[in-house]
Amino acid sequence: MSARWSDRQQAMLREMGVTLWLPPQTDAMPLPEAAMPEPVPSEVTAPVPVRMSRPVAAPAEANSPSAPRPLAARPSGVAAMDWPALREAVAGCEACGLCRGRQNTVFGVGHAQAQWMIIGEAPGEQEDRQGEPFVGKAGQLLDNMLCAVGLTRAEAGPEQQVYIANVLKCRPPMNRNPEPQEVAQCEPFLKRQVELVAPKLILAMGRFAVQSILQTGEPIGRLRGRVHAYHGVPVVVTYHPAYLLRNPADKARSWDDLCLARAVLRGGGPVPA
Ligand code: URA
Repeated sequence: MSARWSDRQQAMLREMGVTLWLPPQTDAMPLPEAAMPEPVPSEVTAPVPVRMSRPVAAPAEANSPSAPRPLAARPSGVAAMDWPALREAVAGCEACGLCRGRQNTVFGVGHAQAQWMIIGEAPGEQEDRQGEPFVGKAGQLLDNMLCAVGLTRAEAGPEQQVYIANVLKCRPPMNRNPEPQEVAQCEPFLKRQVELVAPKLILAMGRFAVQSILQTGEPIGRLRGRVHAYHGVPVVVTYHPAYLLRNPADKARSWDDLCLARAVLRGGGPVPA
């Protein structure tokens, strides 16, 4: 059906900046007034050119800017990945909601055949920004602790240079405790890192990391002083450096833990329980 714009409609469209092409027929019916937009004050409309665009379908809720990004299954085949594939899988992982808030994934750093592997909890704000584990104040204390037993994160041989990783590769918002399903999604990455490094010893730092890898709810105080195991690798547990910054009196206990770890590595310590 052909239609003709009424004089009022044409004036209004001109006011809105819309150029009209008018068909030559003169006998067509004007568009119903109800089809026109409500008149709005000219100070609002005058400077705003109206672009006629093709109508688009109403956005589905999942596509609206406020809707959370949908999650994806964790990449398959993690258990057989080499270093580059594993690094890439972590970088692209969207298997839990932590991917939505991260700036960077924090994969891990250190010697790929390190004898010592340090396992912490999760990236904090600075780690998320830099993509490297333990770079804040707690990281400085960790470096000092490592130095005290002849270890380093700097370039060195596998006896001296450690490998450092976290249970979670993405920062939990506001540094909250990780959720069980976040750990469940991320753990295969850590397990593969341990397999690839094949360390002689794991030093697990802090309640969360310790309880996650040892699958226990026991407090650190009861787990210290013994040798545990994670997929066949001896594990010594100790306090998290961030805890030690708040509770410096426990640094002496942590020193004992490092000495135990060194003894285990040299073959003079207790065997895993
Ligand atoms: N705390 C951790 O457990 N890991 C980090 O990388 C930083 C802080």
